[in-house]
Amino acid sequence: MERILASDEEQQGDSDARTDVADRLTQAAGDDTRPGEDAPMQQVRIAILGTGFSGLGMAIRLKQRGYDDFVVIERATDIGGTWRDNTYPGCACDIPSHLYSFSFALNPNWSRAYSPQSEIQAYLRECAERYGILPHIRWNCELLNATWNDSNQRWQLTTSQGRMTATLLILGNGPLNEASLPAIPGIESFVGTIFHSSQWRHDYDLTGKRVAVIGTGASSIQLIPHIQPRVSQLTLFQRTPPWVVPRRDHPIPGWQRALFRRLPITQHIARAIIYFQREFMALAFVYRPQMMRAAERLARRHLEAQVADPALREKLTPRYVMGCKRVLLSDDFYPALTQPNVEVITERIREVRPHSIVTTDGNEHEVDAIICATGFHVTDTKLPEFICGRDGRSLGEVWQAGPSAYKGTAVAGFPNLFLLIGPNTGLGHNSMVYMIESQITYILGCLRLLDRRGLQAVEIRPEAQETFNAQVQQRMQGTVWTSGCASWYLDAHGRNSTLWPGFTWLFRRATRRFDAARYQLISRQSNEAPAMAVPANTSL
Ligand code: NAP
Repeated sequence: MERILASDEEQQGDSDARTDVADRLTQAAGDDTRPGEDAPMQQVRIAILGTGFSGLGMAIRLKQRGYDDFVVIERATDIGGTWRDNTYPGCACDIPSHLYSFSFALNPNWSRAYSPQSEIQAYLRECAERYGILPHIRWNCELLNATWNDSNQRWQLTTSQGRMTATLLILGNGPLNEASLPAIPGIESFVGTIFHSSQWRHDYDLTGKRVAVIGTGASSIQLIPHIQPRVSQLTLFQRTPPWVVPRRDHPIPGWQRALFRRLPITQHIARAIIYFQREFMALAFVYRPQMMRAAERLARRHLEAQVADPALREKLTPRYVMGCKRVLLSDDFYPALTQPNVEVITERIREVRPHSIVTTDGNEHEVDAIICATGFHVTDTKLPEFICGRDGRSLGEVWQAGPSAYKGTAVAGFPNLFLLIGPNTGLGHNSMVYMIESQITYILGCLRLLDRRGLQAVEIRPEAQETFNAQVQQRMQGTVWTSGCASWYLDAHGRNSTLWPGFTWLFRRATRRFDAARYQLISRQSNEAPAMAVPANTSL
């Protein structure tokens, strides 16, 4: 079997097969001879993980503030995180380009309203170069383990390239980097080609092949229109139909790009307009889910306009409140499904055989290749198991009841650890870059405090974290995400630990200043935390 799945033994008994990244972490943890164990210890002040929008943005802002003693740990050999890894045909952003970029580095040259993956990655590369981040990056370097050492109050990091210590550890590895492969009986027996959408096999030519696509999420609906004209037969296995609204992507005219270059303020205005339009949608997602009905009507009209066949239309009609799962944007997904070489299967998959996929109605669908557009491990990623805090417990253990953090950024028991796109910072309606920049400002505030007061470490107080999360979960009640669908926004306990339940400017307001009173402040001279009162009411 030509494949990228984990070994057969690993798949058996596992609810989901894991990708090689997670496997390497697991192997490294149990491997005493792992590389770097005897290597000399490098000491840095700040270690950042990842070069996606989060890690790179953090590095740039550090550099701008005059911090130079930092490294960026990058497991690959190029910049970009999810925008480097996802190279499937048609991969693009569904947040408008002018908004999906750093506020301090607007790009007047975006070619389209919604940028393709290659442009976004090129933009990130360009930013890394322009702001002098490249010399700070340790390429091909994977973080295998991070342990807080309370005696020297530093993080001990084991990487695939050796060991290092850091005063601050900032995780910018992102929530969408661990591919989730379906645990379908017999999948390991498939003799054709099988791969995940985020690990596209560019060496495998789909032309003339019988191809199965499993999943109808954001990745699937982008790639299907691009592969459908090439394949001989496309069989789409849909478990839940997504809500799809018109995308209305278009090239950005040359005169507009020239205007943005000459008068940058015009692009700031364009960005602000898009921001407020998107922000308006939070009203429906969070505060008035019934407002979604208007958007549902728009989506139904879109479906009716693009799919004439009533039987196919019926299959593609969602039965849950719009927004409960990510709302998808596409003008070419439905038309692709109406083509004669496409079949949409809504029966559940029962098993995979060497040359086919069998559904619960007993039908056998012969295929040459299977593309798993089945999403990512989000609330159950492996890395937290290898981040150990003050009392030796891993973040994975602490998060057994579901991921949680203070303002999505700090976790009690893990001094000087900061998460970018941590729990409850995700969005269903606006640009993640806005949230990332809010968190970066917050972390920079912490650094300023450490420097000003000569402190070694900060640690969020458990009660502050609990109060904050109680408020977040209270706000989550009545949102569209709790309206009853299954989604990757929910953790194993059915709790939404991924999304921010509110306007993004509320998050920005909550993170604009580092609120030292919620933290234990640990001085350089002593391990003892000075007693600091925490106000009973920790408001968002
Ligand atoms: P996803 O949204 O999680 O979709 C996974 C799909 O696979 C769903 O349709 C799911 O069905 C299906 N699936 C999973 N396991 C299955 C199984 N065992 N059998 C049958 N179907 C199965 O994943 P994604 O499309 O990769 O997108 C993930 C996230 O990445 C998005 O939500 C978005 O945040 C981000 N993304 C963004 C963009 C962008 O334009 N900015 C583009 C791509 C991805 P169910 O719905 O029934 O679970």
